[in-house]
Amino acid sequence: MFDSISELLNQNKRKVKIRGWISKKRSSGGIQFFEIRDGTGFIQTTLKKDKVDENFFKELDLMNIESVVEIEGELKEEKRSKYGFEIIIDKLKVLHKADVDFPIQKSDHGPEYLMDNRHFYLRDRKMFLITKIRAKILQLIRKYFDNEGFTEVHVPSIVNNAVEGGSNLFKIDYFGNSAYLTQSWQFYGEAYINSVGKCFTLAPSFRAENSRTRRHLTEYWHLEAEMPFCNLECLIKNEEDLISFVCNEIANDMPNELKELGRDPEYLKKIKAPLPRINYNEAIKILKNDGVKIDYGEDIGADEEKILTKHYNIPFFLTHFPKTIKPFYHKEDMKNPKLTLSVDMLAPEGYGEIIGSGQRIDDYDEMLRRLKEEKLNPKDYQWYIDMRKWGNVPHAGFGLGIERIIMWICKLEHIRESIAFPRFVNRTTP
Ligand code: ATP
Ligand code: MG
Repeated sequence: MFDSISELLNQNKRKVKIRGWISKKRSSGGIQFFEIRDGTGFIQTTLKKDKVDENFFKELDLMNIESVVEIEGELKEEKRSKYGFEIIIDKLKVLHKADVDFPIQKSDHGPEYLMDNRHFYLRDRKMFLITKIRAKILQLIRKYFDNEGFTEVHVPSIVNNAVEGGSNLFKIDYFGNSAYLTQSWQFYGEAYINSVGKCFTLAPSFRAENSRTRRHLTEYWHLEAEMPFCNLECLIKNEEDLISFVCNEIANDMPNELKELGRDPEYLKKIKAPLPRINYNEAIKILKNDGVKIDYGEDIGADEEKILTKHYNIPFFLTHFPKTIKPFYHKEDMKNPKLTLSVDMLAPEGYGEIIGSGQRIDDYDEMLRRLKEEKLNPKDYQWYIDMRKWGNVPHAGFGLGIERIIMWICKLEHIRESIAFPRFVNRTTP
């Protein structure tokens, strides 16, 4: 039986046995230091010359990083070690001897090089931390939805209509016909609420984003939820509860990992619903006040969002966008039919949009009218609009970009750091 490093760091056990990869090594006189990584954590180990045969000691000194070893020894607290503990080795067995020149050795590799070597860069301490936090965030999201009585559902990724508009769809050849990779599960979510009620999905969405930004992938993980008997107010409540739950819990569960990435867990603990709100109109005024050239009716893009986020130090909502800049299915605001009952959530510190959402049109005739206004062919959306004839109710839903929330929570510079194998315009490998 082997001990796992993550558990060792909590329990101060004396005699231990681990196995893993040598992520770093150095020697100094009669001592060799190996940093070992076992999939659960990292720890420093120390081998003194007199513990092993002289030739074996020399052989180990020449061994390359990423070799795999089994170690038995004594765990002790070591203030000088980065991880607070070290293992004094009694026995060491080599399971695999790595080749020379592991590709990720320097601290100054450029981003493109690291992207080309993603399959190795994954082993880096930073990627390890982000991947562990990512997994925990997904667990917490599922926990939140479970607590709230949502059902997880799954729908196809190959579809034949656009949810977010036609401009950034990936077209595929489907046995001689055209089909598309999905941008959103929303239409299916709206179908499911009539069966299982509140529901959510976690799945990849695809956007042919033909530009290089630090927040767009062409394939990203999309958390989407849909709720029957739910209006804009209820939607906002669900979003702020989910976000505060995830922030508070991740801060409790992984404070050290967050700190190491530069995010203060105390900050995340303080994020509590209700979150601040402004409407589109107010946002335009703030932007104008800040010297931005923007007119009422124009979309608020990444650059404008960045400026708005300077006014808040926690996530906030942007509500009531004009109809002209939102897809057809958004319900009109009865108080002002030029506006929609839509809401985005923006993360502070320049990050911007992490959630897009809104109340949907639930009336058949209103839906037909809106499709015509947008010069869309109702036949292309027949099954979607037909649902309004049988049992549809006021309902609302949201889409949250998993990589976007990870970027903000982990304080990352670029979205490529929040996912193991990112996809961009010029990148489909490794
Ligand atoms: P943006 O304006 O940033 O392109 P959007 O308005 O196109 O976003 P939605 O269609 O509302 O986004 O999608 C819902 C959520 O999915 C967004 O709030 C965001 O978190 C995430 N998202 C959208 N496009 C991408 C992308 N290309 N890469 C990563 N996440 C994305
Ligand atoms: Mg977009």
